[in-house]
Amino acid sequence: MKQLAILGSTGSIGVSTLEIVEAHPDKFRVISLSGAKNLELLSHQIRQFRPKLVAVADPSDIPQLKGMLSGVDVEVVGGQEGLSAVATAPGVQMVVAAIVGAAGLLPTAAAIRAGKDVALANKEILVTAGHLFMELVKKHNVKLYPVDSEHSAVFQSIEGHRSEDITRIILTASGGPFRETPVENLQTVTIQDALNHPNWSMGRKITIDSATMMNKGLEVIEARWLFDAPAEKICVNIHPQSIIHSMVEYIDGCVIAQLGIPDMKAPIAYALSYPARVSTGVKHLDLTALSGLTFYKPDLERFPCLGLAYRALGEGESMPAVMNAANEVAVEEFLAGRISYLQIARLIEKTMDAHKASQISSIEEVLEADEWGRATAQDICARLQTGTLQ
Ligand code: NAD
Ligand code: MG
Repeated sequence: MKQLAILGSTGSIGVSTLEIVEAHPDKFRVISLSGAKNLELLSHQIRQFRPKLVAVADPSDIPQLKGMLSGVDVEVVGGQEGLSAVATAPGVQMVVAAIVGAAGLLPTAAAIRAGKDVALANKEILVTAGHLFMELVKKHNVKLYPVDSEHSAVFQSIEGHRSEDITRIILTASGGPFRETPVENLQTVTIQDALNHPNWSMGRKITIDSATMMNKGLEVIEARWLFDAPAEKICVNIHPQSIIHSMVEYIDGCVIAQLGIPDMKAPIAYALSYPARVSTGVKHLDLTALSGLTFYKPDLERFPCLGLAYRALGEGESMPAVMNAANEVAVEEFLAGRISYLQIARLIEKTMDAHKASQISSIEEVLEADEWGRATAQDICARLQTGTLQ
């Protein structure tokens, strides 16, 4: 029986994780959960899975949540300390890091320091603080399993091979809803257009990241740290069918790929149950029913965010954290209807131009870079809105 903590249980990954737990009550047990805004769903999850400890992001929500839980024996805590308490709760063996954005940094670091294994969905952690987290994982001798479908595919395609034999890690990308939209029409795409992902059902932030392909950029940086591979060895292919989840190429010309119907329950289950495999309810693939698998190189003019991520990885130090912060601000502003789709990349680029990368040697310094990136991006955003910056 594996005992779990789920950070971000009310999100898309959190809910899918609980579906796996529900299907395998003999294999997994929930010890602690955390959520932010959706108290209704969180209280429902608490009644169903009976964790001992629950955290809400905002401590002022504690009384309301407690009010929804009369008769339930659970401790409710809040804020950053509460999230860390969930991540380090006694008895927890594995923490599912499924918070979105840099907000997951501190509780996930706390989990590793407490000796917990981590199933990592929260890619922004490795983007902003990759080298620090990989050092922490080594120091505390814990296991870090990828949940992101591409990294799970690479993880599955790399096992048993020597890293010096790898020539390329090929991350696949669906290309999102704007894969074929004429570039001149991108000027007028709406929030709804951008949220309309062709293959995957996900949280709002990652869905916008998929439309801009910043998601793939973040994944390139995530792969750099997870697999200790230099940027030159990590490339991206657009594969609109999302059947091959990623590939690894070796010096002898062989390529190993992992295939499946796109459903996050498969990589989540593998991270939870590794090295065993468990049933997931994901439909099995009928290769004979596929009309074809296609691949092509992404156009960086259409997807400037992918180029920005490679630039941030190249400049290193604090730049990826600043890029990530600017992206979080840009996506939020876009979803609030305050900037246009094309201004997302513009805002990130301008924020990066204003930053001189500095050395990062602690999570506190990552958070400082994150804060600087957010403040600068807000500033630039205001100038974009008033038209004082184009
Ligand atoms: P989501 O928006 O659906 O859920 C996010 C969760 O984090 C929710 O439980 C929310 O309550 C919590 N949260 C949000 N802000 C918080 C804060 N400030 N403090 C504490 N908790 C907070 O997001 P998601 O789609 O489930 O994605 C979660 C992470 O997994 C992201 O990093 C995303 O990039 C990654 N990921 C998601 C998918 C997917 O299919 N959804 C696939 C691969 C990777
Ligand atoms: Mg992914």
